[in-house]
Amino acid sequence: EDKKSLNFIEQIVESDLKAGKNGGRLNTRFPPEPNGYLHIGHAKAICMDFGIAEKFGGTCNLRFDDTNPVKEDVEYVDSIMEDIHWLGFDWGDRLYYASDYFPKLWDLAIRLIKEGKAYVDEQSSEEIARQKGTPTQPGIESPYRNRSVEENLDLFERMNKGEFEEGRFVLRAKIDMASPNMHFRDPIMYRIIKHPHHRTGTKWNVYPMYDFAHGQSDYFEGVTHSICTLEFEVHRPLYEYFVKELADDSYCPRQIEFNRLNLTYTVMSKRKLLQLVKEGLVAGWDDPRMPTICGLRRRGYTPESIKNFIQKIGYTKYDGIISVSLLEHSIREDLNKTATRVSAVLNPVKLIITNYPENKVEYLETENNPEDPEAGTHQIPFTRVLYIERDDFMENPPKKFFRLAPDQEVRLKSAYIIKCTGIKKDSDGNVEEIYCEYDPDTRSGMPGSMRKVKGTLHWVSAEYSSTAEVRLYDRLFNVENPAEEKDVDFRELLNPDSLKIVDNCRIEPYLAENAKPGNRYQFQRTGYFCVDPDSTDGHLVFNRTVSLKDSWEK
Ligand code: ATP
Ligand code: MG
Ligand code: MG
Repeated sequence: EDKKSLNFIEQIVESDLKAGKNGGRLNTRFPPEPNGYLHIGHAKAICMDFGIAEKFGGTCNLRFDDTNPVKEDVEYVDSIMEDIHWLGFDWGDRLYYASDYFPKLWDLAIRLIKEGKAYVDEQSSEEIARQKGTPTQPGIESPYRNRSVEENLDLFERMNKGEFEEGRFVLRAKIDMASPNMHFRDPIMYRIIKHPHHRTGTKWNVYPMYDFAHGQSDYFEGVTHSICTLEFEVHRPLYEYFVKELADDSYCPRQIEFNRLNLTYTVMSKRKLLQLVKEGLVAGWDDPRMPTICGLRRRGYTPESIKNFIQKIGYTKYDGIISVSLLEHSIREDLNKTATRVSAVLNPVKLIITNYPENKVEYLETENNPEDPEAGTHQIPFTRVLYIERDDFMENPPKKFFRLAPDQEVRLKSAYIIKCTGIKKDSDGNVEEIYCEYDPDTRSGMPGSMRKVKGTLHWVSAEYSSTAEVRLYDRLFNVENPAEEKDVDFRELLNPDSLKIVDNCRIEPYLAENAKPGNRYQFQRTGYFCVDPDSTDGHLVFNRTVSLKDSWEK
């Protein structure tokens, strides 16, 4: 394959494979901590980990990085598996849990203690942090650094038996308190946690830290390329240090980092997303305003649109923030090709065609998707009384208003050209009814329909339409990068208008009869919408996935 079409990680993998490293194997892993739902940032990692394995004929493990029982739960395990499958990836029989390695990690820790490479410290975490020093100043060695092997073994055993309270002791690697790399200054390997684990129950009272668990887990699984985000770059020497305790020349996992995905107008930290859910600031993890995979799914996003988006933004070594409009562009692009066009009026006003017979109904043919000739057509009933969008009429329009106004002509989509002849207002001066005459020779398909008019409006029949609820979503936050606003609680930056509910949208009968939860449509001229699972018989609920670009000014 052409070098230029490969990203920098693919180039590394390709050259490692060519060089026959690790016996010419490629094995990646996706290692989520089951402490929350996956978000669009995780999708970027998933597309890399699973995608690169697919591309180069390797395998990808799903490994739950479940080393902190306090925050983890099976609810998250299940949702993570569902979301990876939905994105279109599969780990087959390669499902692993870091907790399965607790015994092996324990054995390694014991070995390191015996070799004088680890010791039990009993200072407070504050004291340990103080002694770390700064990048320009060496740290201070713990007074417990030179405990005897026997004492260390005894204490570590008793830590795990549950004899001590949390925080009383930690196991630290004995490396170098003066190392220029802060992560080498006797990092903590184990801490006491007395909280049941969702898989191992109360078997363990000590749990390994990320740096001690991750590389070893990679090694135990035969992972060759351990791909992660840039914040782990500074951990890489420590990753290599611990892995060296196990690996040899024939096989050694290798860590490679790429830039994490940040998106405008949202937050991506699981801690913050959890807070939004717990405090009821959103309706749940799958609230369509959330950047979670399940939120995007409920919003109407397709797996393809997410994968195309990830493909477009690519993988680099530089952190930045990506505009959410790029994500929106990618779902528009997808739905434009696939979504059935239907007629729905979000803010209806009555329009009466005074020269159309009272009890007549005509079934007019309308295209399901002009982008896809195979998509076919459906019928929409046309009657004397219709609804159009309130915004599509102006009594005193500005110059380039190509919609309906007194004495002005417009085309009704798939129907006739009409001309406004008058209006009726209520006592507050609001337009209550719009009167029009239609030209019977201008039905779509007739020669008379060739007449040029500037605007085309969507509409529904008053009698044959029904009511639906529509949820209009806007950005969840008011500022581009909430994570960067340092002096303010991120919850104060929430957009109070991120959800607007329209409860009297009028929809054409074809839509009312066919809409099922998950179905996606284009509402002519207003946007892409999908059917929300809150829908019940007789009460359809639609989520606006994304608006269209303004289409009325053609
Ligand atoms: P948080 O910091 O919010 O808890 P995390 O990075 O700890 O998130 P994990 O469950 O540990 O979440 O992530 C699993 C994998 O997904 C890791 O390899 C991580 O690097 C990657 N990942 C997480 N967030 C992003 C992101 N925004 N962009 C790209 N990859 C990400
Ligand atoms: Mg985390
Ligand atoms: Mg993590």
